[in-house]
Amino acid sequence: MEFLYHIPTKLFFGDCVIQKQKDIFSKMGKKALIVTGKTSAKKNGSLFDVMQVLDETDISFTVFDQIEENPSLETIELGRQLGIKENVDFVIGIGGGSPLDAAKAISLFIKNPQIDVYSIFESPQLTYLPIVTIPTTAGTGSEVTPYSIVTVKKEQTKKNLGQKIYPAVAFLDYRYTEDLSYEITVNTAVDALTHLIEGYLNTNATPLSDLYAKEGFYYFLECFKALERKTLDSSIREKFLFVSLLAGMVITQTGTSLPHGMGYALTYHKGLPHGLANGVLLMEYLKSFQDKSRQNQMFCYMKMNSLEEFEQFLSPFLKVQIPIDQAEINTYTTTFYKNEQKRKNHPEEISFEKVKMIYEKSLLK
Ligand code: NAP
Ligand code: ZN
Repeated sequence: MEFLYHIPTKLFFGDCVIQKQKDIFSKMGKKALIVTGKTSAKKNGSLFDVMQVLDETDISFTVFDQIEENPSLETIELGRQLGIKENVDFVIGIGGGSPLDAAKAISLFIKNPQIDVYSIFESPQLTYLPIVTIPTTAGTGSEVTPYSIVTVKKEQTKKNLGQKIYPAVAFLDYRYTEDLSYEITVNTAVDALTHLIEGYLNTNATPLSDLYAKEGFYYFLECFKALERKTLDSSIREKFLFVSLLAGMVITQTGTSLPHGMGYALTYHKGLPHGLANGVLLMEYLKSFQDKSRQNQMFCYMKMNSLEEFEQFLSPFLKVQIPIDQAEINTYTTTFYKNEQKRKNHPEEISFEKVKMIYEKSLLK
């Protein structure tokens, strides 16, 4: 047995953790840049709670609330400029995966003002300002992962920045997720599920990542049955946030593989939300495996008897009609095939034709 385990983020999970642990902020610096989306953090109370705690601990702050879904390098550059102008010591990301990923990127670009945002993919590992993350969706796990996924318009796709940017502290309070719409709840839950699956069926899976994945699979039926019934009470919201965290801890060790790498094109070109983009490819990805032994184990953990049962149960959550033609699929396949990292994470030989077939069978219906 040989593996590396590295998750350096200090985690606080529970009701009102920000208020209970407010002294943590004083250890991060004197001035903060808060990075968030345009509206939700104002509505769900998370932004107010953070500003109040910063006031109470005499930390000054500036708010950058311009992060769009699937954040672009251009918006990240604007956040960097504000952070440099305000001379901030640390960055606080509040929101879904988009603001959290943007906060990570901005912290790194502030610390390295000489680096052009477009040349980051060729840069060696850089340092970054300390980051605090506060998730308000339950899906990406970005509060603990070292990844920052950005939209690269020039290449017409989304990409991982290619840097390992670990948040110093994460505060997880399910109360901020309580007003999520049903649709966003489903899409983000599917994202967490695909993290568990792609992490478990991964070249880089370790006994420890398997342990987290197994715990995440344990909650699968309960969480998705609650989605089916549309009974999303506090206790289920808390479980979704916990599973999302577990799944984030899995992919921190393993990375993601085919559905994530292939789904980026569906988000960029067809506007599909991230979780759903992975979800629509999930069944054909699973069917493409030659060795089904790990999959069968995984279904056992989920209390599912077979892939057929899993597909039947999950398909109502993955319904989507995307107008798409063969030429588009060929382009997406070519783009994906250049993503060597995602291919390496897949434990079986994956030919160009097989990738194309997964797109075709999932989308040309
Ligand atoms: P998101 O793009 O962050 O947000 C989606 C929508 O949800 C936005 O309209 C947002 O509004 C709203 N929202 C957020 N919190 C809410 C709340 N509590 N109540 C109501 N609405 C709320 O969605 P996401 O699925 O969490 O993140 C997707 C992004 O994360 C993608 O870019 C994906 O590539 C990335 N990702 C990163 C990792 C990683 O490890 N770093 C892993 C998976 C995915 P506002 O805009 O007003 O805030
Ligand atoms: Zn994801």
